[in-house]
Amino acid sequence: MSPTQGLSTRCIHAGEIDDPHGAPHTPIYNTTTFKFPSTADLLDVLQGRKAGSIYTRYGLNPSLLSLEEKLASLEGAETALAFASGMAAESALFFAHGREGILCLGDVYGGTFELLASQLPSLGIPTRLLLGAELDGLEAALRQGGRLVFFETPTNPTLEVLDIRAIAELAHGYGALVAVDNTFASPINQQPLALGADLVVHSCTKYLGGHSDITAGAIMGSKELLLPIWNWRKNLGQTPAPETASLLARSIRTLVVRVRAQNASAQAIAEAMARHPRVARVLYPGLPESPFHVLAREQMQGFGGMLSLEIQGSGEEATRVADRFRLFALGPSLGGVESLVTQPCTTTHHGLSPEERARRGISDSLLRFSIGLEDVEDLIADLQQALG
Ligand code: PLP
Repeated sequence: MSPTQGLSTRCIHAGEIDDPHGAPHTPIYNTTTFKFPSTADLLDVLQGRKAGSIYTRYGLNPSLLSLEEKLASLEGAETALAFASGMAAESALFFAHGREGILCLGDVYGGTFELLASQLPSLGIPTRLLLGAELDGLEAALRQGGRLVFFETPTNPTLEVLDIRAIAELAHGYGALVAVDNTFASPINQQPLALGADLVVHSCTKYLGGHSDITAGAIMGSKELLLPIWNWRKNLGQTPAPETASLLARSIRTLVVRVRAQNASAQAIAEAMARHPRVARVLYPGLPESPFHVLAREQMQGFGGMLSLEIQGSGEEATRVADRFRLFALGPSLGGVESLVTQPCTTTHHGLSPEERARRGISDSLLRFSIGLEDVEDLIADLQQALG
């Protein structure tokens, strides 16, 4: 598939196999192993002389290979690897490329934080975490070591935007690789590889899956950088099932229309909430008053479907607001067709101390919203009634 074709065309057609029975898309190859006419044919595939399928845990299964071609095409990457979850993708990345030191920038998902702040250091892997406001320390940290720079943008839950191009330029000057978790933006709104990143990571559980019904992950980049990751995935057994791969490919075919509708609704909600007397602060890079608006306009093609609101009053009052929603479902996660609300201090950032949350600008009265595909008038009406 040509990389010059539009994103919607690539979402639908990239990677689809030419099925001998005429199926318009790749069927599910629900099999763990594949048979060969001879040992010579088996060795050709096993030793990489011929493309083919051999064993599903290796990722050598048409349902996975077809999905991976689609995933690579979305991010303009040479190749991609699919995983059983976003955390599986991150841990394989860290084992393959982070053993000499990982520099993590800005706020990150709680599981990533736990991996980087305690689990990897317990194995002797050096890690360092710098918040968005501490980025002037990045050069000194790079000078001291650290061969992999990892960050999310926009960040969770404060929707800070980090400058991918500037960070990549600095990191490359010190010989470090740059990996961006593009889950919040999705490839429709942001293309980190085109901005200089070396690798892109996704929790496909979110926008790429889009229906809150599959857990999956992905890494996109060059063949050279993905080969060592492939080996970790193989022996840690992190490959997704063919059924999951097929469902994910099904979801990606509608990714562009879903994400663009979610962008539009989030923008309308952010503008309506910016005028609401019970809202102290709207955190959304699409608002011109956001400190990240100018940078977001430069590096993003859309501002995304995630936004956070700081409610006037205490954390208990914000909890009462969260409990009053009728259409927004109260729960963690994001990126699905159904809108969700969560109070980070009770869910995603519950494990952090109140001081650490305050350092990250996550007050108890902050509510985070994942905007789905319901009619935006109904979502605004639900916000109005919950805010009382
Ligand atoms: N990255 C981000 C930005 C996330 O929000 C999450 C999960 O919420 C993950 C990674 C981990 O993904 P998964 O739950 O698919 O393992």
